[in-house]
Amino acid sequence: MSEQTIEIIKQIRHQHPGNLMARHFDEHLYRQFDAAKRQRFDQMIASGIENRDSQMGIYAMQPGDYDDFAEMIDPMIRDFHAIKGEIRQQHDWDTTAKICDLGAIDPRLKDVSMRVRVARNVANFPLPGAMSRNERVEFENQAVAAFDQLIANPTFGGSYLSITPGSAHEISAQEYERRVAAHQMFKDMSADKYLNVAGISADWPHGRGMYVSSDQDFLVWVGEEDHLRIMAMQHGGNLNALFARLHDGLEVLSQLLPAFATSPAYGNVTSCPTNLGAGMRASLHLQLPKLAADMDNLKQQAKQLGLAVRGAGGEHSGAGAGGLVDISPSARLGVTEMQIMQRLYDGTAQLWAMENR
Ligand code: ADP
Ligand code: MG
Repeated sequence: MSEQTIEIIKQIRHQHPGNLMARHFDEHLYRQFDAAKRQRFDQMIASGIENRDSQMGIYAMQPGDYDDFAEMIDPMIRDFHAIKGEIRQQHDWDTTAKICDLGAIDPRLKDVSMRVRVARNVANFPLPGAMSRNERVEFENQAVAAFDQLIANPTFGGSYLSITPGSAHEISAQEYERRVAAHQMFKDMSADKYLNVAGISADWPHGRGMYVSSDQDFLVWVGEEDHLRIMAMQHGGNLNALFARLHDGLEVLSQLLPAFATSPAYGNVTSCPTNLGAGMRASLHLQLPKLAADMDNLKQQAKQLGLAVRGAGGEHSGAGAGGLVDISPSARLGVTEMQIMQRLYDGTAQLWAMENR
């Protein structure tokens, strides 16, 4: 099995040079792993082997994987995040230091859909790719106990909506679809070929759900690609207020949950190495009819500005009506939360100028 794995990875390296797992796979290191360690590693790279077009091609299965497999994974992480020197994740949540009001770029940007999320995993469970069904439901129950306290707090209020069959909080299929269409709830993960092979979407929809605050602007996903995706969503242009809402909620919630998994170098531990560090993706839904007419070109242009472009339905979707796209800074590791906010602001100003030239 292992010899075959090595051969296949060599083929992928040749045919899909973008697959970072294959690009940096170190045969010599792999051969030094004992049988148990090889088995663990094989599980981590299964998705990148089956889905040869993967960008990253590797997922962590345990919170300690980034330490246990550091020599193998570090080059992959560095390549994706374009980091050469020492990696030390710093945090900065001083949301008042610099005003980032999109309305100052153009009054037409006073009312856009803004979203910022962070990925978090607790240290006392396997990561989603290696959880059993019981563990998924057990983790959801722990999260629900924390949400009960948020719900009792007037700053948050709201409710928990579960899609676990038989849950006391279970919502109907129609309610689930309505929340997905409203961009609040996550999509059916069992339709995602990358997550399927990684085991991350296993046991769908058990252990999955979402907390939403009473004013619908603070949300927490349970059981998606990471144990928790914690986010703020608002319509407007005030990025400072958006980030402050997320930070306040994150602070309260982290007191109510077991400790999050972190690594000294990489900051927040996440299933996919692309999310390490701040674990943050801050995005705007923007209509860019001219630029979005050529999505490949837009992606190239945005990349120069440190931004990634997704479709209006999230990752792997296409542009929506009127050239509606999702733009977000691609760097998450080695940048602080406030640097991400600043990049989103500056990059938006530049893209907006290109669109309106
Ligand atoms: P992530 O991986 O960061 O959680 P996805 O690409 O999976 O994000 O998208 C999750 C959902 O969030 C999708 O429905 C997507 O359209 C929605 N979304 C992302 N950014 C925004 C935004 N700025 N406003 C509204 N919805 C958004
Ligand atoms: Mg996603």
